[in-house]
Order: sequence, then C-alpha cells, then structure tokens
Amino acid sequence: MEDVFAVAMEAVTAARPEDAEGMRRLADEWDAGRLDLSAFLPTRGSVAAAAAERLAIRPAVAGFLAYAGLRPALEWSLLGARGLLAEGTWTLGVCPFCGAPPGFGDIIEDGRRQLTCHLCGGTWIFSRVRCPLCGADAPRDLTRLEPGGADEAYFIAGCTRCKGAVKEVDRRQRWNARTPVVEDWGSPHLDLAARRAGYWRPIPTLLEVASPV
Ligand SMILES: [Zn+2]
Ligand SMILES: [Zn+2]
Repeated sequence: MEDVFAVAMEAVTAARPEDAEGMRRLADEWDAGRLDLSAFLPTRGSVAAAAAERLAIRPAVAGFLAYAGLRPALEWSLLGARGLLAEGTWTLGVCPFCGAPPGFGDIIEDGRRQLTCHLCGGTWIFSRVRCPLCGADAPRDLTRLEPGGADEAYFIAGCTRCKGAVKEVDRRQRWNARTPVVEDWGSPHLDLAARRAGYWRPIPTLLEVASPV
C-alpha cells in the first residue's frame, strides 16, 4: 500500500472502527493492482466517487483519503500551471486546476472573494453574490450564518436553493488568520453549525468522517 494513503487510512479507522473493513478492501485492491489514483480524482460534483463505489466505502471517507493523500502530488505537478490562469477568465465554482469543488473562501484585502481548493491548493476569484455550487444569484438565494463571538469575521455562506455552504473568513478583520486549509480543518464546530442549519458542504469534513449523519 502506498504511503500516500497510509496515515489517512489509520486516522479513518481510529475515528470509526466500523470503517476498518473498507480500508482493508482498499489496501487489497490497491496491492492487487485493481485500483489506482485515478479513482480518487474529482469528477463532476464530487471527489473520489469512483473509489467510494468500487470499494463500497462512504463517500466522505473516500473523499477524505483523496484530500489527505493526493494534495502533495497535485500541488507539485500543477506548480507550473498556476501562472497560466489569467485573472477574471474563470467564472465557474470549481477549481480551475483540478476540477474539485471549493474548500474554503477568503474575503481578501480588496473585498473580493477568493476560493481555495484543498485538493490541489489552487485559488481563484469568484463572485460574492453567487453560489459557487449551483450558480444561484438572486439576493434571496444567499444566506450568511455568522457565529459571532470568538468566531467574529468567520461565516458560513449558504444557499437556500441547493442548501450548499462554504466556510469563509473576512481577512480584512482577521489579518492573522492562517492558511485556508488550516482554518477549515481547524473549525469543525462551524461545520456542525452548518449541518444543524441544514446545509451540506461539497467536500468531506472531519465531522462527516468521524460521525456520519
Ligand atoms: Zn484544485
Ligand atoms: Zn446553491
């Protein structure tokens, strides 16, 4: 079994022993050469869907393995492509480099919204008044959950049409916020707030891996 997944597989099994069997199937299929990295890549609307289906493991777990395992390789192989994206040319709600859904949103210094892909580390500017998950852009379609208190400047940008949500931080107020991936994985309580409000997120969260609905 490749090192890329080993640590993440152990984490999955530790969080939920019920998933151990699926992890064994993954190891067996991989070692037998019947499964490769392509099963973990993004397809329309999801990440690692092929792996989840082939191995009969939960989509959140397959997605988590992809995010934990693929990032170093993707980040490295896409290094040369970053400069090729001219500003303002990409208006879709998926990563222009790898096709994965947005992982986190930042309101940057000039007030624009920058989305980040956790799968490859890519970033792109996206409209603040449109849902990146379904394209809805009527004012009544977009909601904003603001936990406030210690989480001042963090919010959950939700959509009443598709019920999808993206976690975001306004960096004009939180100049010392850490990288998007660290901010995201470090705030499972915001995922819980989003889930309680009836929203889903387009990428796997630790919450889903550890405690499925
Ligand atoms: Zn990407
Ligand atoms: Zn939407």
